[in-house]
Amino acid sequence: IRRIVKPGDTVIDATAGNGNDTQLLASLVEASGRTIAMDIQRTAIESTSSRLERVGLIAELRLVDHAVELDLLNSAGTRVKAVMFNLGYLPGSDKLIATGASSTLAAIQVASRMLLPGGAITIVAYRGHGGGLEEATTVEQWMSELSADQFETSRIDGDVNNATSPVLFVVRKS
Ligand code: SAM
Repeated sequence: IRRIVKPGDTVIDATAGNGNDTQLLASLVEASGRTIAMDIQRTAIESTSSRLERVGLIAELRLVDHAVELDLLNSAGTRVKAVMFNLGYLPGSDKLIATGASSTLAAIQVASRMLLPGGAITIVAYRGHGGGLEEATTVEQWMSELSADQFETSRIDGDVNNATSPVLFVVRKS
């Protein structure tokens, strides 16, 4: 993401959480760019907002499901250099409020249509919690069906010897 995103770009954090990724994206696009970050939990949006305020960065924060918001942005013609998904639940919060295979799939499908050439989608999947393994499998299956002419994909395992370790999926548009 650091290599791909440049000042002035439009980027999306699809799971704002505590705002670590939003902060990274906002710092890379600088004041001339646009960072849109979303989450379904008010606590996450507040936490991200406080973090940005502390470090003096700006992002558009939205309390909404990413499948819904990405669809709206896509329909409005928004094109982006990067979309980051950090799946699962908000650390320190209710573990039952987590991303799920069906809305994640809908969101990554739209995200791939919004990507500019040279852009990337990153998806970190946590396989150790309820539904996490199914979600990771769904993401990998979707990735395997992408056209190789248009997209380059990769998978990086947190620990190849541990079936529940986190996995990073990266999709790059040619
Ligand atoms: N990227 C975050 C950070 O840097 O702190 C961590 C994200 S946390 C692992 C996952 C977040 O996804 C949670 O805050 C959760 O509320 C959010 N989430 C779950 N389902 C969602 C959905 N359908 N749309 C948007 N956010 C969702």
